[in-house]
Amino acid sequence: MQSRIPLRALPTTAGQQDAQPLMTPVSGPLEDRFGRRFSYLRLSVTDVCNFRCNYCLPDGYQCSTTPEPLTLTEIGRIARAFAAMGTRKIRITGGEPSLRKDLPQIIRVLKQTPGIDTVALTTNGYRLTHQIGDWADAGLDQLNVSIDSLDPQQFRAITGHDKLQEILTGIQLARNAGIQHIKVNAVLLQDWNMSAFPQFLAWLKHEDVTLRFIELMQTGDNQDFFAANHVSGALVREQLLRSGWQLQARGRHAGPAEEFAHPGYRGRIGLIMPYSKDFCSSCNRLRISAQGKLHLCLFGDEGFELRPLLQDDDQTLLQQRIHELLQDKKATHFLQQGETGAVRHFAMIGG
Ligand code: SAM
Ligand code: SF4
Repeated sequence: MQSRIPLRALPTTAGQQDAQPLMTPVSGPLEDRFGRRFSYLRLSVTDVCNFRCNYCLPDGYQCSTTPEPLTLTEIGRIARAFAAMGTRKIRITGGEPSLRKDLPQIIRVLKQTPGIDTVALTTNGYRLTHQIGDWADAGLDQLNVSIDSLDPQQFRAITGHDKLQEILTGIQLARNAGIQHIKVNAVLLQDWNMSAFPQFLAWLKHEDVTLRFIELMQTGDNQDFFAANHVSGALVREQLLRSGWQLQARGRHAGPAEEFAHPGYRGRIGLIMPYSKDFCSSCNRLRISAQGKLHLCLFGDEGFELRPLLQDDDQTLLQQRIHELLQDKKATHFLQQGETGAVRHFAMIGG
């Protein structure tokens, strides 16, 4: 079969006038038209979820006719392609990734991919206490657990599950299993958890963890909820700075989160403010949906189908396609203008 890969001719140098031009496949690190490098991939492995978070899936997961999620083999091929193009960290997300029985195998395949140095997982924690040992054995490096309130009643009201205490125990087990990098994600929700904000701070006094407050984002499905519950991250930021939290210097390839520390607290705070100016300028991530579509932005239009290219081991075509698609990535999202893109809720794509 003839290759469809566009080839770039290398310029000939003096003294090589008659030489055939050298042909080389277009490849190399993933970089877009704005000079942003993409070293971080968020990989959704299922869009099914067992929680009913009121800002995400208030009516629970609705069975759909979407194709089966990516297989282990397809996941391995995606990981190899991205790693070859400079991706160093892959986060497994969902839906709820721990609902996949082969999650330990997925972790192992990603961890064994040459070039990938960090495998992370975002989970609602439902299966944490039972499965953390297997995940750690498979090579998991980092764990993010979503805990939207430390008040058990609020937690249940937000998620539909009375699991707070068990999930907190799971975090301790994760530490015991040797996972050093643990973060807790909490979405700021005016009517549901802001009254318990001081409880989060009190917890950080002694807990060696990074707590990331995520500003609620508007999606196709949560417009009314968003209008009633959005809390400005900028206000939280001001409050933190006023009470002695200090903004930490960011690494060159760090993502868009701002990090804060306080001498009187063991824990740290991260703030994710997608509505802030310049949020997109430090974007370092791409996303793959559970069905194998490439999403250039959380708030973009439909994803781009990669699955047909995952049916054999032709890495060159796959990498070439990803490179081409990346050139369509926009400089910024249009959230401020109320344009939320094609994603109805983040369980579809992994947040
Ligand atoms: N089910 C897992 C969990 O909840 O951790 C992984 C998938 S979930 C979509 C990933 C992250 O997105 C969670 O931390 C969740 O709180 C966050 N998230 C979901 N919908 C959101 C929204 N509308 N605005 C901000 N964060 C959201
Ligand atoms: Fe499920 Fe996560 Fe969405 Fe909650 S935020 S409903 S746990 S996918």
